[in-house]
Amino acid sequence: MTQVYEKVALIGLGLIASSMSWAIKRGGLAGQVTGYARSQETRDTARRIDLCDVCESAADAVKDADLVVLCVPVGVMGAVAQEIAPYLKSGATVSDVGSVKRAVIEAVSPFIPDDVHFVPAHPLAGTEHSGPEAGFASLFDNRWNLLVPVEGTDPTAVDRLRAFWEGMGANVDVMDPDHHDLVLAVTSHVPHLIAYTMVGVADDLRRVTDSEVIKYSAAGFRDFTRIAASDPTMWRDVFLSNQEATLEILGRFTEELFDLQRAIRTGDGDKLHQYFTRTRAIRRGIIQAGQDTDAPDFGRVKK
Ligand code: NAP
Repeated sequence: MTQVYEKVALIGLGLIASSMSWAIKRGGLAGQVTGYARSQETRDTARRIDLCDVCESAADAVKDADLVVLCVPVGVMGAVAQEIAPYLKSGATVSDVGSVKRAVIEAVSPFIPDDVHFVPAHPLAGTEHSGPEAGFASLFDNRWNLLVPVEGTDPTAVDRLRAFWEGMGANVDVMDPDHHDLVLAVTSHVPHLIAYTMVGVADDLRRVTDSEVIKYSAAGFRDFTRIAASDPTMWRDVFLSNQEATLEILGRFTEELFDLQRAIRTGDGDKLHQYFTRTRAIRRGIIQAGQDTDAPDFGRVKK
């Protein structure tokens, strides 16, 4: 147990913040954790499960905090930063967990006082569940957290945040914001859009074939439905704030899709086989890197 910050404030009390709170407690990383969410309902739930010291305003939560983490949807990061700015302690660090980095940096930076550090971050861990009851202490174990410090940031503040995330079980890397947004467009944002689309297509089909799509849904489609059950507000904000990179990757995706479509139409089995052999190797690489399990059906326990 090594305390990294005396007081940590979490703004937003959803999946990520609640997982952080449990992981902070597990690791003894802070003397106190305060939290705030905009609705009374969420604050009451957080109190009921004894998540952290829940405050009735963001200003109260951040008062005297050494680290403030914005755990709200990307589209409201700027407004929340503006709201808390007058109450930040001199020498404190503000960070965030937003899934997009360039837009968050642009929205939040103007409100950060000169005597406060700003170290944006993005933990590459999550589930399709939301809210304070969705969190669990091991969410970040052996997952990557990308720190995206802005130019001129005090390296001590970055090192301290790194130690904090490592204490929560994460592996930490530092990345440039634009590169982050492009990488995440490939690994997360566009795959989510594809899942949303596929489930939408199947839903249209369901109207024709009654309940067959649900009844006979095999592992592939079930995984799409799991991803497509992700929080609509969070994902709307991700696409609106990472427009450029997602559109670039979507452009490449549709080109490849048309290419495979042509291979199917022309009966080009070699092309399909070669393509699927290449993609299978990528899956093996992910398992070798410890970022997934090779258990059949992704290790799901049958109930
Ligand atoms: P979530 O479970 O939906 O929680 C969002 C929280 O933000 C809720 O407590 C909500 O309060 C609060 N909130 C929204 N607007 C607010 C405002 N104006 N002021 C104060 N609180 C506000 O979301 P999450 O999954 O934890 O995601 C939070 C952030 O983490 C997002 O930026 C997302 O991009 C990022 N992220 C998510 C994942 C993932 O897989 N879910 C992974 C990595 C990063 P109410 O409940 O009162 O509405």
